[in-house]
Amino acid sequence: MSENIVSVQNIGMKYQSINGEINAIEDVSFSVSKGEFISIVGPSGCGKSTLLSIISGLLKPTQGRILIDNDEINTTSEKVGYMLQKDYLFDWRTIYQNVLLGLEISKKLNAENKAYALELLRTYGLYDFKDKYPSQLSGGMRQRAALIRTLAVKPEILLLDEAFSALDYQTRLAVTEDIYSIIKNENKTAIMVTHDISESISMSDRVIVLTKRPALIKSTHAIKFDCPNRTPLKCREAPNFREYFNNIWKELDVHV
Ligand code: ADP
Ligand code: MG
Repeated sequence: MSENIVSVQNIGMKYQSINGEINAIEDVSFSVSKGEFISIVGPSGCGKSTLLSIISGLLKPTQGRILIDNDEINTTSEKVGYMLQKDYLFDWRTIYQNVLLGLEISKKLNAENKAYALELLRTYGLYDFKDKYPSQLSGGMRQRAALIRTLAVKPEILLLDEAFSALDYQTRLAVTEDIYSIIKNENKTAIMVTHDISESISMSDRVIVLTKRPALIKSTHAIKFDCPNRTPLKCREAPNFREYFNNIWKELDVHV
């Protein structure tokens, strides 16, 4: 793969709280190439969401810096889209109005961008639902609508924080398949945080394992499957899937 699009350099984060200082992230560095899909796994509370918020520019680290396309960021970047566990669709807005929200907020609601949003809805099978309200859609479709809203502002990098963990297992498998194919089809770079080892292996080119808080990188695993037209479900059936799973499981300190 080619040039680095994201560079995380010596990130450290200490929160100040009434009960004193919380050392959330110790010293984390890694780079992501254009088009790569990276997962970050680690024990609950180890600092995964904190790290993703720092990469998004929403949270300022107490140490280190983030480069996007070789530029240091000090605030949120238009190149970065953020997708969370809850889809945060507004119930009183139609799907189309929800999809336009990011464009409205960034004051880019022009004819060209509206047409692009409609095109995304059409390409990804939600056009017929554009005038429906979120409550009229299934969990999977809502998640797809949330992704389309994120894509509508044309980010190069997608950050996903436990984006599927609110869904039941079967839906989750289907949505993972769906979201993965959209991300690949749109040639996006992705950084996903999850506590689900299988999910991370099935979607990623590389899995980064963090230690307990304060987070440090414990190990990095390059994931390679010999399957043409890779999809998350196919990867789960690949012979070496278990091996990756066992290696990462051992690293995860789940038994403390
Ligand atoms: P994860 O996503 O891996 O579960 P988080 O990044 O949410 O972990 O949190 C890491 C640690 O930092 C936790 O101990 C959490 O309680 C603490 N933390 C998170 N946000 C704040 C905050 N705004 N103020 C103080 N402590 C926080
Ligand atoms: Mg979290």
